[in-house]
Amino acid sequence: MAERRLDRGARLVIATHNAGKLAEIAALLAPCGIETVGAAALGLPEPAETGESFAANATIKAVAAAAASGLPALADDSGFCVAALGGAPGVRTADVATLPDGTRDYSVGMARVRANIGEPANTSAWFVCALALAWPDGEVSVFEGRVDGTWVWPPRGERGFGFDPMFVPEGGRETFGELPPEEKHAISHRARAFALFAAAALPR
Ligand code: IMP
Repeated sequence: MAERRLDRGARLVIATHNAGKLAEIAALLAPCGIETVGAAALGLPEPAETGESFAANATIKAVAAAAASGLPALADDSGFCVAALGGAPGVRTADVATLPDGTRDYSVGMARVRANIGEPANTSAWFVCALALAWPDGEVSVFEGRVDGTWVWPPRGERGFGFDPMFVPEGGRETFGELPPEEKHAISHRARAFALFAAAALPR
């Protein structure tokens, strides 16, 4: 299929209501001459994430935002995967951090994941990010990135968001919650998916 690229100066909806993701994606796009607008700022609804894969959920969010806004839309579906849990929480990562009142508390989410793991020898873990770019006519492309490492307990660091404090990337010692943002962004699942998206869809 022919590549379909965004024009320089194009407006792109970032189809997320997650402030941490919005900030990371806006920072990645800032040097590329693309104007970003968040889904919350446009008052777009949050569709139910009913897919069984990161790619399927990213597609649901991007297609809904592009259809509602009439603009191209980029959605991120991502999560934390633990080998000892067969890859869980995976596409359900946001759910394990959700409290009965609907708010999210990642300290609670990390403690739940740690409790589910028990005492295994296997500390392998990874993050996955699927980025879906949807056009108002319904065309979609998906780009996926992954970073491997280990889970650690207790969580460490105040930086980043979500499950960052309990993940140490392969070859490192500090958690994503301890690393300076530019070091996380150089190797993260989101940066890797973004590099594929940039090569295929950003202005040359
Ligand atoms: P969703 O993609 O909106 O379903 O949510 C994914 C969840 O995965 C987020 O709410 C975070 O808890 C977690 N997550 C995704 N990416 C990262 C990351 O870069 N660092 C830490 N947690 C992440």
